[in-house]
Amino acid sequence: MRERRKSFLPFGSPLIEQPEIDEVVDTLRSGWIGTGPKVKRLEALMCEYTGAKYARATNSCTAAMHLSLLAAGVKTGDEVITSPMTFCATANVILHCRATPVFVDIEKDTMNLDPTLVEKAVTPKTKAVMPVHMAGRPCNMQAILDIAVRHNLVVIEDAAHAIGAEYQGKKIGNIGHFTCFSFYVTKNVVTGEGGMVTTNDEESAEMIEMMSLHGLSATAWSRYSQKAFAHYEVIAPGYNYDMTDIEASLGIHQLGRVEKYLKRREQIWGRYDEAFADLPVTLPAPVGSNERHARHLYTLQLDIDRLTMSRNEVLQALHAENIGTGIHFLSLHLQKYYRERFGYKESDFPNAKYVSDRTFSIPFSTKLSDDDVEDVLAAVRKVLIAGQKVHP
Ligand SMILES: *Cc1c(COP(=O)(O)O)cnc(C)c1O
Repeated sequence: MRERRKSFLPFGSPLIEQPEIDEVVDTLRSGWIGTGPKVKRLEALMCEYTGAKYARATNSCTAAMHLSLLAAGVKTGDEVITSPMTFCATANVILHCRATPVFVDIEKDTMNLDPTLVEKAVTPKTKAVMPVHMAGRPCNMQAILDIAVRHNLVVIEDAAHAIGAEYQGKKIGNIGHFTCFSFYVTKNVVTGEGGMVTTNDEESAEMIEMMSLHGLSATAWSRYSQKAFAHYEVIAPGYNYDMTDIEASLGIHQLGRVEKYLKRREQIWGRYDEAFADLPVTLPAPVGSNERHARHLYTLQLDIDRLTMSRNEVLQALHAENIGTGIHFLSLHLQKYYRERFGYKESDFPNAKYVSDRTFSIPFSTKLSDDDVEDVLAAVRKVLIAGQKVHP
């Protein structure tokens, strides 16, 4: 049997290569470390990569989603439909707009919004729908866009997991009205903190740019760079949501490698699928023929009826083997604030509750060596075989 791993393998860590290190140093030496030419370059690369007409960089996906909701005109009293199987930021930003998040249940296998339930949740107050491409798997966008057209809704995609994903031949980023990406440290493309909105609507792109810099009528780059001195006016009470050139320096090179990284992710994914097929777990569902999964998270669902161990015990046992894990996610309707404010019962979203009770994510990133991958799968096999119920 394979020996226990010597050093702890964190659940997610970024692969940083020499070109981005050099680019950051170049930015530091250039004297312009704030929002400037490198952010513009990253935005142009995002347009090129996704096919969207406009891309606006922000300092997080959370900021990107908040500004997209504002650009969509979401305001006090509106309702926004979204998934409870997501990171809290997706619903928090709806509350930041003084609107109401309306959760609808997910599909057990894809962990994505169930479109039939989306349509049932639409009321005269519904302004937008925020699908989340969970783990990197594209949502059923055709069904969601059809509902949006029927009810005049804005579609804002949480694509924090989904850079590189494709749906019916189109890149995620060029499908809904707004698509929001994350470049947080654990994501497929990293800038430290960072995010991006892509859209094909020029007016929205301009509003997002203005609102991400305090609501000023001109950007700092255009105000202070050589080209011209320009006066500005405050035209709205905006936010401080801009990405810096230091962050963009990382993103420019990371984005350039997204296809190459995806190939490596697919390789590791295949190895995991193969190694876990006989264990008391449900593997990630296969990907639809007209879709490309962005392979952000490798999540397994524990078959708890076939195990003598709880999920916590499984995760503790993996940690004891020096393998880090994550949970994506505990359903938002079970989280204290949402539970108390909206009075949810556990059974309100049965599929989200089902996944929430069983899911766990294992180390999965481009940084993993073949040896790391073998350590992970040996530890997962060891723990789950030991925890399996024995039938006489
Ligand atoms: C990471 C994440 C976010 C937030 O991204 P930030 O860039 O950290 O703001 C939003 N939604 C989902 C599903 C995420 O995983």
